[in-house]
Amino acid sequence: TDTSSQDNAIRGTNDDAVTSKLSAVNTGYINDIFVKYFVKRPSKRPPIINRGSYVRNTGLDILITKFLEVGGEKLKKQIVSLGAGSDTRYFHFKNTLRKFHKYFEIDFPEITSKKVAIILRNKDLSHLIGTKMQIGKGGTEIYAPDYCLISGDLREWEDNLVPRLEEHGFNRSIPTLFLSECVLIYMDPIDSNKIVQWVGDNMKVAMFIVFEQILPNDPFGSVMLQNLRAVNIELRGIYAYPDLQSQKDRYLRRGWTHAEAVDINEIHDLHIDSNELSRISKLEFLDELEEWRLLATHYCIAWAYTVKDAKDKSLFDH
Ligand code: SAM
Repeated sequence: TDTSSQDNAIRGTNDDAVTSKLSAVNTGYINDIFVKYFVKRPSKRPPIINRGSYVRNTGLDILITKFLEVGGEKLKKQIVSLGAGSDTRYFHFKNTLRKFHKYFEIDFPEITSKKVAIILRNKDLSHLIGTKMQIGKGGTEIYAPDYCLISGDLREWEDNLVPRLEEHGFNRSIPTLFLSECVLIYMDPIDSNKIVQWVGDNMKVAMFIVFEQILPNDPFGSVMLQNLRAVNIELRGIYAYPDLQSQKDRYLRRGWTHAEAVDINEIHDLHIDSNELSRISKLEFLDELEEWRLLATHYCIAWAYTVKDAKDKSLFDH
């Protein structure tokens, strides 16, 4: 069917994402020793793409760190990565001693089965999950004390995924970060918003972080969309959330406590420390400065939090 061939194309975006991340790792922008296990054929990306990967990763890291600091280290916290693909953050965090109670990852079974196989083949990865690791659902899932990989379709959030998460220790009453890096954008906004709505209605304290494309209508945006359409990919969410304001309103309209959205130019200029900027400027020569600026306006990080009890309101003050 049309849907299944589109789903295939969407799954294919994961290879591109992890290959780009490895390019940024191998060029010295990003420090993550686990990405290499998830790429069969490494390929070097142009300097503006590497810089984009670096700023995206650093921006997300700043926000995730803030979340992990909420209420101090002793307060239990969960992370749920929606459409996690080959993301290695769990391994990187565990290896660098970042504290979290449990890390859940969700993706289609076609993607999670590959992740399971790679983890089982590489001791560096399985060792971090620990000896209590169990494999389930025909090799598509992993259950461990602080890590859980679940296979499923995000379009079946409430009926299928929430019960599966809860079976494996997901807890609605501890602070939870929902992370979506280039995922919601591929979904029909009706489906992705069911997740946003559910989180807002059901979690006591939650944060959402989204990284995705915006600005479909300028010349750069329309070329980007054309290129994706050529490989049967539609950024369905980009028309509903075409700019920073609408990205914020997505949460505020659903009763979330607070929301922000910035593009990666702003992250680059205001949130990356100057030593880091000077370090990355020496990694490779970037002569397309204007092109980088233009590209950077098309990628946004939006984040929001929701807090039910007045007594928890101060958690996000820092
Ligand atoms: N978040 C990862 C990252 O940033 O490296 C992967 C991003 S990749 C561009 C998009 C991922 O979302 C793919 O792995 C795809 O399979 C997953 N995805 C998209 N729609 C999904 C759905 N309806 N259910 C489960 N996973 C989905």
